Amino acid sequence: MNSPLQTPKGTHDLLPEDFRYLDFVQKTVEKRLKDFGFGRISTPVFEFKDLFVRTSGETADIVEKELYAFASASGKEYALKPEGTAGVVRAYIQHGMHCLPQPVMLYYLEPHFRHDRPQAGRFRQFYQFGFEIIGESDPALDAQAIALAHGIHEDLGIASRLSLQINSLGCAECRTKFSAALQEFYFDKKRSLCETCQTRLEKNPLRLLDCKEEDCHLLASLAPKLSEFICPDCHTHQAQVEEFLDELGISFQKNPTLVRGLDYYTRTVFEFWDEKEGAQNAVGGGGRYDNLIKKLGGPETPALGYAGGIERIISHIKSAQVSLPAENAPQIFLAALGQTAKVYGLKLLEELREAGMRAVGVLGKSSVKAQLKLADRYQTPFTLILGQIELNNDSIIIRNMKKGSQESVRLKEVVKVMKKKLKQ
Ligand code: AMP
Repeated sequence: MNSPLQTPKGTHDLLPEDFRYLDFVQKTVEKRLKDFGFGRISTPVFEFKDLFVRTSGETADIVEKELYAFASASGKEYALKPEGTAGVVRAYIQHGMHCLPQPVMLYYLEPHFRHDRPQAGRFRQFYQFGFEIIGESDPALDAQAIALAHGIHEDLGIASRLSLQINSLGCAECRTKFSAALQEFYFDKKRSLCETCQTRLEKNPLRLLDCKEEDCHLLASLAPKLSEFICPDCHTHQAQVEEFLDELGISFQKNPTLVRGLDYYTRTVFEFWDEKEGAQNAVGGGGRYDNLIKKLGGPETPALGYAGGIERIISHIKSAQVSLPAENAPQIFLAALGQTAKVYGLKLLEELREAGMRAVGVLGKSSVKAQLKLADRYQTPFTLILGQIELNNDSIIIRNMKKGSQESVRLKEVVKVMKKKLKQ
């Protein structure tokens, strides 16, 4: 039953414990991307629906089945973004970024939305990080994009759990020939196809190849292969990508059945699969989209991109038991007893923080017992105790929580003393 006190199906809250992982992923991803010269971009959570239809293609699952589309009061049709490339490419055109030195390198890290059937690793709101390299067609960029994603997985400690799959989808010319060959192959087999594939045969026969229905799957295995239609230029491009990857020591599997779900890809496509589960729950994928910007009304601009799913990455980090970097947990708890001590305590907390220490306290509990209980919960290595007697003596108690020992120091010395203790 739907309850307003529950998150909607397929969505979840991100609590402080989740952010320990999310922050780790974000920092790791951003470090690599910034070292590489990427700049961050954020596009609106919703765009005109037509942008996604024109970018991904009307037969793409994320448009046909999974789009969160809605109309405004004035009847304009919008949709929550199901993926990041459409918005970034729209922004590239809108802001005239083709006038900047090329390639333009942009990254994002944001929630995306797909009205999919929720299951393990598949949500309706999920985080993706992604990057786009726009304005260059050289295969060295394809290899670098793949190496970048691989490097991020290495930094996150999950690279050995993933297998890199690559394929070439060819250019518009190869695809036109291949589509025609597919239509010919399926011409007298139409009745054996599922309903969706029957309608897709006209509009986008390539999509028939990744249908999961048993009969369609069987027919797809007998259908002509895209590799037979790859033109010499596309072939050379792919051979160079593979050569660069070999040079970089990145192992990959050539996968002639890898098509990705969206229309806009050309030439190189790649995905990182779970070493054990395969295509199910891939952690990320990407590829070239050399014709997309022109198709959307911008100048002729080759480009490529990649997107990784953060929830799935985090699930790998947990399974691999990667130890996260030390947290920024508080180091000092300050228990202030009585009104005057509270006033002094607030100032002292500020001084400790300004001196670079992480300090909490003066949280409203009044008895010593209740405050020490709180200190226990924060698990700070030190607690400072400031009561009326200490104030009268111009002193403060420092309690070492691990050892259970305590000492009294002069109030004006405490910041210096604590700094020294925490350094040890
Ligand atoms: P895609 O471009 O559809 O291959 O998505 C790129 C990556 O985003 C995938 O490899 C997943 O890691 C992640 N992803 C896509 N859809 C979902 C979803 N519904 N829930 C969680 N992660 C997703």
